[in-house]
Amino acid sequence: MSVATERYARSQANFAAAQAVIPGGVNSPVRAFRGVGGTPIFFDRGQGAYVWDVDGNRYIDYVLSWGPLLLGHAHPTVAQAIAEQAQRGTSFGAPTELETELARLVIDLVPSIEQIRFVNSGTEATMSALRLARAATGRRLIVKFTGCYHGHADMLLVQAGSGVATLGLPDSPGVPPAVAAETITVEYNDLDAVANLFANRGAEIAAVIVEPIAANMGFVLPKPGFLSGLREMTQRYGAIFILDEVMTGFRVAPGGAQALWGLDPDLTCLGKVIGGGLPVGAYAGKRQYMQLVAPAGPMYQAGTLSGNPLAMIAGLTTLRTAFANDGAAFEQAVTLTTNLANGLRDLGTRYRIPLQVGNVGTMFGCYFLRHPDAQITNYAEAKANADTQRYARFFWAMAERGVYLAPSQFEAGFVSTAHTAADIEQTLAAAEEAFAQL
Ligand SMILES: *Cc1c(COP(=O)(O)O)cnc(C)c1O
Repeated sequence: MSVATERYARSQANFAAAQAVIPGGVNSPVRAFRGVGGTPIFFDRGQGAYVWDVDGNRYIDYVLSWGPLLLGHAHPTVAQAIAEQAQRGTSFGAPTELETELARLVIDLVPSIEQIRFVNSGTEATMSALRLARAATGRRLIVKFTGCYHGHADMLLVQAGSGVATLGLPDSPGVPPAVAAETITVEYNDLDAVANLFANRGAEIAAVIVEPIAANMGFVLPKPGFLSGLREMTQRYGAIFILDEVMTGFRVAPGGAQALWGLDPDLTCLGKVIGGGLPVGAYAGKRQYMQLVAPAGPMYQAGTLSGNPLAMIAGLTTLRTAFANDGAAFEQAVTLTTNLANGLRDLGTRYRIPLQVGNVGTMFGCYFLRHPDAQITNYAEAKANADTQRYARFFWAMAERGVYLAPSQFEAGFVSTAHTAADIEQTLAAAEEAFAQL
């Protein structure tokens, strides 16, 4: 990998120091840049659509902390709300009005949600939703899809996407085989395989959990009928249908993928945007199930910092700002995302670089394909058909031109309400130069 060393000198020094005291130098694996080579870029600050690294280079940011920053970095209203709340106390371990306010807002936005429990991460959200599904059904088996990532809980770290995909790791050591054995994986978009599974073991299946867009193995859209088929099948066999909208929630539409595509899941997992850049997750859904959660019901789940006012105010302010005035700011970001995706598609055609570009709402993805006629509709195809080396060259060519993309082919991209048409133009101009080099 030819990376201009001088340009990233301080990042490299920072990374060396970090590796001495933090495993791999990072607190979450994809940050280590194994997917693109070189050493990770260390950041100093962010403002709106831009981030500055410790060497003083500025980038247009399409990672946005992996999705949460719908309004961009340090949005003034959010920053002020956080600062004011910090003065009044950051956590009480007791209820505050803000939790009810955020709960009401989410219930208004997301069609299937009647009650919600806040936690501190997406991992906690999916882990708790599965416990709830098992409690509600009295069954053990979980069905998930290969390459979908639902956080790092034991029973979900089976054929997972995101960093697990980037690093090419098998299932993680440390996950007890007995736990992994309760999770059955099926290829994404393969409804027939799910139907077979239900036909054979339907009475044992507690839940099906799915990402409505598989965006932790790149960007794979559900085939028409796939998600509604899962809804129908889970209903027929009495299993819980869990839509993991940790990434798509408030990103593909104000009401998430379920609002966009008319889905009615039993439970929904949320995270990322709902915390506006602070650690928040949530699991939510039909009252009949949520009423099983302690202390309303017997399923135990708790959290010292859950629903803390700092995180709640960040989430509330982010959602209110993004969706004020009939969602004008959000719609503008959607338009820019569409323009970016279309621009990349055009460049691919003009420079004869086979791409598979996808976009929904404020999310997008761009696979570099090994063959012009290759297609990616699931994880097996993503591994076989995505040209990760070409992506790595593209990533660094863009970084040199002031555009920060996900440091892995197997991650989605994000646009914020702070991005402008000029940012998109500049990004496409950089991409054109990069394509000319590829
Ligand atoms: C990011 C993500 C998670 C995990 O959330 P964390 O806050 O990182 O624990 C779960 N599910 C999906 C779909 C995600 O994208």
